Amino acid sequence: MIVDCHCHTGQGDLMTAPWNTDAPIEPYLRRARAAGIDKTIVFSTFHTNYAEANRRVASIVARYPDRLVGFAMLHARRDAGRVFQLVKHAMVKWRFRGIKVHGFESPPTREVCETARALRLPVLVDVGAKPHIVEMFAPQYRDVNFIVPHLGSFIGDWKAHQQVIDQIVRHPNVYADTSSVRHYDYIVQAIKRAGAQKLLFGSDGPWLHPGVELHKIRLLGLRPRDEALVLGGNIRRLIRRARARSIQPSASSYSESREASHTSKGCELCV
Ligand SMILES: [Zn+2]
Repeated sequence: MIVDCHCHTGQGDLMTAPWNTDAPIEPYLRRARAAGIDKTIVFSTFHTNYAEANRRVASIVARYPDRLVGFAMLHARRDAGRVFQLVKHAMVKWRFRGIKVHGFESPPTREVCETARALRLPVLVDVGAKPHIVEMFAPQYRDVNFIVPHLGSFIGDWKAHQQVIDQIVRHPNVYADTSSVRHYDYIVQAIKRAGAQKLLFGSDGPWLHPGVELHKIRLLGLRPRDEALVLGGNIRRLIRRARARSIQPSASSYSESREASHTSKGCELCV
């Protein structure tokens, strides 16, 4: 099963750039199907209200339940004090399976990391070419898995790529995705140094073509077992730890979910 771990959907309300204006899912899904991509992790564009934006993402996921899985996007500072509620709601009501934060808005705070720990969710954190922040949260939360998109830089900052490769080698709980990386040898180096189990295929659709991004992975010429990890095995392993089904909507503290046991029944990715 091929899983794209990084795609946006819904509409942003800022309208100063594509990534805060519109991320139409249908053209993406047509391209993804043609490329052989089975499932896709989706989250919102930049937005001024992530409770609302996540709701819209959920309505899109509901239209394509066999192909889309949601992550809850949040702004760590603006949503401070309600992060757990926001994420738990998305998990229980819409079966979201992860958290997305963007360093341009606010890097993950302790509240975000503790929510991820309690719900056993991966955090996809765009570090915006400032990978040094990974050195703060990754050692503090060894039991939380972090995925750094674009090998650290959407715009191809090779120094960030170098640093993130080093981080996925050193930190057992840090992973990277391949979306938008155009300095190809950094992808090669990431596989060689960190191993296929630390790299995830992502497209950053709908703005980048998922078929083009997928072909980058094919061109690595990996052994079938390693290619399968990059193309879906790794993200499936990371999201199957989620505890959503056992969390009651009335739960109001981190600790209430701690003793809950995971069941993957009903989650198509948890197979
Ligand atoms: Zn993105």
